[in-house]
Amino acid sequence: MNPDLEKLISLHHAELEIKRLDAEWAEVPRLREALEARVAGDRARLDAAREALEASRKVRKENETAVQDLEGRRSKYKGQLMDVKTNKEYTAMLHEIETVEREIRSREDVILEEMERAESVAGDVEREEMAFRSVEEAARGEVAELEARGARLGDERKRMGVERERLASTIPEAPLGLYERVAGLRGTGVAEARDGVCQACHVKMRPQPWVELRQNEELFQCEACSRILYYDPPPTVVEP
Ligand SMILES: [Zn+2]
Repeated sequence: MNPDLEKLISLHHAELEIKRLDAEWAEVPRLREALEARVAGDRARLDAAREALEASRKVRKENETAVQDLEGRRSKYKGQLMDVKTNKEYTAMLHEIETVEREIRSREDVILEEMERAESVAGDVEREEMAFRSVEEAARGEVAELEARGARLGDERKRMGVERERLASTIPEAPLGLYERVAGLRGTGVAEARDGVCQACHVKMRPQPWVELRQNEELFQCEACSRILYYDPPPTVVEP
């Protein structure tokens, strides 16, 4: 094979590898964001359960305070019952006491309901806390893995960049210039020709250049996309 062509193919592969590494490297922050969003979602579920528990406790506390006040009022009314002068005043006072007692009973029902609710919500909180602890632990592991991957890809990218420069420095100016012009225009500078067809733009070659190209002795450009073509002969099959 033409030594320049061979080097251009190596350069092409190095550049493909650099592109692959860049794409993989760009994925790392996206994966990290997705991971953080997942953790935030679980955190929000835990916060919601804690808030529900806090809200239930608050309602219970308010009602307990109200019951204390109402009980005070009831004792006061019962005391006043001894001092009333008329039947009418007595009936009115009894009515007041009944009203207060109804209010106490209704608030006590609420307190009971909230105690039951708090018990079930406390169970939710406990479950969410446990779930969140394991999510957090797993996320810490995944973040460490992503950071390691980012660092590894960065190192590999640096190494391939150096390798690309080393390869380029071994190629004479003319073929390298041609390669770089085409690569700048098309994204890649080299393409394989298989069965007489450029594998990058899929345009069929004319028969004569295809015959000559298969020698891999000269630099042929695809007439459609200008990429430098090479021929990769199929492996020889050895009969057993
Ligand atoms: Zn082509």
